[in-house]
Amino acid sequence: MTTIAFIGLGHMGNPMAANLVKAGHTVLGFDLLQENLSIAVANGVTVAPSAESAVADADVVITMLPAGKHVLSVYESVTKEAKSNALFIDSSTIDVESARKAHEIARNRGLLSVDAPVSGGIGGAAAGTLTFMVGGSVDAFTKAQPILSQMGARIVHCGDAGNGQAAKICNNMILGISMIGVSEAFTLAEKLGLSHQALFDVASTSSGQCWSLTTYCPVPGPVATSPANNDYKPGFAAALMLKDLRLAQDAAKSVDAATPLGAHAEAIYAEFGAAGNEGFDFSAIINHLRKTHRED
Ligand code: NAD
Repeated sequence: MTTIAFIGLGHMGNPMAANLVKAGHTVLGFDLLQENLSIAVANGVTVAPSAESAVADADVVITMLPAGKHVLSVYESVTKEAKSNALFIDSSTIDVESARKAHEIARNRGLLSVDAPVSGGIGGAAAGTLTFMVGGSVDAFTKAQPILSQMGARIVHCGDAGNGQAAKICNNMILGISMIGVSEAFTLAEKLGLSHQALFDVASTSSGQCWSLTTYCPVPGPVATSPANNDYKPGFAAALMLKDLRLAQDAAKSVDAATPLGAHAEAIYAEFGAAGNEGFDFSAIINHLRKTHRED
């Protein structure tokens, strides 16, 4: 069994660390928030007094932090304390540039690393069914795979350093755009007198079919498990969708990629968030579209 340091024990990190404990590993955890440390202890994680002391004896170091700046500052300090053969796995969703810098910090200290952001949310983290999108060398991926498969159901090697983050933001840009597209269609259908169920029955088996419609339908009724049936409780919060759309735009600007719909989706989710809706599921964007009027 492996000794694993887990840094960042929030909504995602805690259930992921719990699955590693269940798999029989020794997990040494660190977080800045006492309440999250208490949950970790209840899950069988041994709390360390600092990130540096958590990594000192670890074979694998996993980070699950809010943003690139947190990952880089933790990497700067803990890579100095890690064992020379430790593997670094960053599962946070961060910008591609910071992800590549984190790899560079690890590489300069002779350490293997992967960026391994996830999809599947809090439910997937608890059930151990996350999808990991992994960037890094074949050696690092091969070493990371058995650990990742104890927290996830699907592990995809996307290429070199940073490509896991690239896959994540490209996927979520599709998701943000498609959720707005599906929501626009239901809003138009309502005004044309077409029922939700009739549109669903046609589009879900026609060329309009997509995940935002068939799994996460933004109106109550057609898909019993979608957040629309539960007052739009997340699910995947609109704040996280906005974060990912912003990361996609940062990346698009850095490589001069034309993503006009991605940019518009970011603007629409920014308006939605600014109106106090960040805590709703991202499919609640339909309520924003219903209130918006045409400009022509
Ligand atoms: P969270 O805010 O619940 O957890 C982040 C944790 O990091 C917090 O507990 C915070 O105290 C801790 N932290 C911050 N700086 C630290 C430091 N220097 N040392 C130790 N701990 C530190 O966030 P989350 O929902 O768990 O998300 C974590 C990451 O996963 C984010 O990058 C997010 O975008 C991504 N993600 C989240 C979801 C989701 O559904 N929540 C889904 C996919 C990806």
